Amino acid sequence: MSPPITLAEFSSMPVTKLKGVSDRKAKALAEMGITSLADLLTHYPRRYVDRSREASIDELERDEQGLVLVRITSVTSRRTRNRRTMVLVEAAGLAEGGGRLRLTFFNQPWRERQLRPGIEAAVFGKLEYFRGQRQMTNPVVDVIRDDGAGSQRTGRIVPIYPQSEKAGLNTWELAALVEEAIARTVGRASGTGRGFADPVPAAVLRRHGLVDRGRALRGIHAPEDMAAQQEARRRLVFDELLRVQVALVARKRHLEATTRGVTHTTDGPLVERFRERLPFPLTRAQQKAVDRIVDDLGRRYPMHRLLQGDVGAGKTVVAVAALLVAVQGGHQGALMAPTEVLAEQHHIGIAELLAGFTVGDEATLMGERPLRVALLTNRVAAAERRRVLADLAGGAVDIVVGTHALIQEGVDFASLGVAVIDEQHRFGVEQRAALRDRPDGSPPPDVLVMTATPIPRTAAMTVYGDLDVSILDELPPGRTPIVTRWARGEAEEESVWAQVRDEVAQGRQAYVVCPLIEESDRLEARSAEETHDRLTAGELAGLRVGLLHGRLKAPQKEEVMADFRAGRLDVLVATTVIEVGVDVPNATVMIVLDADRFGIAQLHQLRGRVGRGAHASTCWLVSEPGDGDEDAGDSSARLSALVETTDGFKLAEVDLDLRGEGTLMGERQTGRNDLKLASLRRDKEWVLHAREAASDIVDDDPSLSSHPDLAAEVELIVAEEDAEFLLKS
Ligand code: ADP
Ligand code: MG
Repeated sequence: MSPPITLAEFSSMPVTKLKGVSDRKAKALAEMGITSLADLLTHYPRRYVDRSREASIDELERDEQGLVLVRITSVTSRRTRNRRTMVLVEAAGLAEGGGRLRLTFFNQPWRERQLRPGIEAAVFGKLEYFRGQRQMTNPVVDVIRDDGAGSQRTGRIVPIYPQSEKAGLNTWELAALVEEAIARTVGRASGTGRGFADPVPAAVLRRHGLVDRGRALRGIHAPEDMAAQQEARRRLVFDELLRVQVALVARKRHLEATTRGVTHTTDGPLVERFRERLPFPLTRAQQKAVDRIVDDLGRRYPMHRLLQGDVGAGKTVVAVAALLVAVQGGHQGALMAPTEVLAEQHHIGIAELLAGFTVGDEATLMGERPLRVALLTNRVAAAERRRVLADLAGGAVDIVVGTHALIQEGVDFASLGVAVIDEQHRFGVEQRAALRDRPDGSPPPDVLVMTATPIPRTAAMTVYGDLDVSILDELPPGRTPIVTRWARGEAEEESVWAQVRDEVAQGRQAYVVCPLIEESDRLEARSAEETHDRLTAGELAGLRVGLLHGRLKAPQKEEVMADFRAGRLDVLVATTVIEVGVDVPNATVMIVLDADRFGIAQLHQLRGRVGRGAHASTCWLVSEPGDGDEDAGDSSARLSALVETTDGFKLAEVDLDLRGEGTLMGERQTGRNDLKLASLRRDKEWVLHAREAASDIVDDDPSLSSHPDLAAEVELIVAEEDAEFLLKS
């Protein structure tokens, strides 16, 4: 007898092998991305209608929410006085006792096409009375069957599949196909089919109380009851997460075993001297991160570590410690920042921190020379640039700070030992890889990527699972927390400007950030100009107000920033160009106009521009409470979260809750296509279980030679481009 069918085998079986897949159906399925039986079996129901909990229409009380099953009897549509379409549907209850119900849909003209007489549907909504008749307004509708053949499924749980209106394939047709695929796998008479292969070791399943794969597939598509659906979901969620984690852990172990980087001297004097000379002690979190990094750097394989830390957590000194490890062993360090402003600030700050440091140099009389920190951006003048390039290649520059100018052609290092990438999410994969892959074939440097846009730990484990992660989860002491307020309406906005005038009178400075206009630098710049003009003519008349936006020429930008830094400007009206890295400790007020247009992470970044000095700071989020607006609820949740907390990790959790993980996975795509059921927020504990199981499996058997089915699944799911991506990231 043949062995049970693996997922890989299912993926090589075309759906057309199933009975009743006509050309039309095959085409419709293909349009939905379903060509193999594996695609079909992992096309999971979107929701379920639990008929055991359906009410008869007469049972529902006024204003009570309920689910009823109905058959449509008539559909009409008309225009209301204010020119909206109104679709009126008359329906009869299917449950015992029948009953009649009217469904009224506003602004959903397509309902007229969807709900033809004879169709059976599950309707969920609030019962109202209108002129003595029972009705629901804009209820949730799932069409169950529309061919007039009567309810086909006698089971109590009806799966509702994501269906494609365009392709014209309905949920019961999908259900029937899945049912056939499952029946043929297990065999008509039980035990006569080949059954489903289960690639996960039985011990792992037992430890986590998970059911076998075959039972899970049956339970997700045709559950006996909702408890069966839940146990099925748990198992399949685990599988999805396990595959991603096995891919990530295996890749990490593979690199560790096969890549040779620079083995750094970790007992040199520079890091210790640096710590002693800092005007402040490192926080506990910083010390821990430095220790881990130094430990990584002493190993044979290159470090690949992510440093997550909120704005102001002090990532820079951790980065400098890493760069110094390279320098003390005779190598070089590079720090790449996403903007020129940020690179210049880092250059100034790092040169200051390392003033007076020396490195060994046999060519000199004293046997040492000053440690040299250079800047390389496209703004650096040609002659200086040539000098820097020559000295980088010759080894006379120890640390170089720059923008993507660092990865342009013609930039050669004598020996690049550590590369740090600040605000890594602002760089593309290729750019990050370019700094690491040395064109001359010298060993790859150790890499530290930093981000001030933290994501929750379990999410990081999935998105960055092949990186080691350090977290700076505490701010240096002595900071005055930033007070955040939400200004709604004109009267409140007036008090915002009053505070700006107040603070300026006391010698402080303020930022005004103009509305975000996606995709258009030009419009955004214009809106900033308009805001600037309006404020200087009105609320901020008499103050020195500067303007900064992306369309200004570099020297102009530089001049404005220099003026603001030096206190020659009181207020800076800007676009989001100031989001990253601007550091003016005297600025105490941040005003974000139309704050609802920004995401949580971006607002948090912007807020981080103040609260950098000894003075108490305020952040104002100016936003009219939008009503009628579709995502008004979301934007008010975002703004409330910012008012409530300044903890970036808490905000990241809220962000994940509000936006879902789609946006997260855009960053790195590992297994993205495979997370069909799993949710990084809902299934947090399963991420941890899967990580642990993956580590156990891979550490025990790095080439997965005793888990061929699992290996095949991972290869199948981590698609080719992702695998390539993995190698580059
Ligand atoms: P970020 O993590 O946002 O990059 P920075 O590295 O720019 O933060 O540090 C923010 C500020 O905090 C800097 O002015 C830095 O000098 C200061 N700082 C960093 N570490 C400490 C510490 N341990 N104690 C006090 N101040 C610190
Ligand atoms: Mg920083």
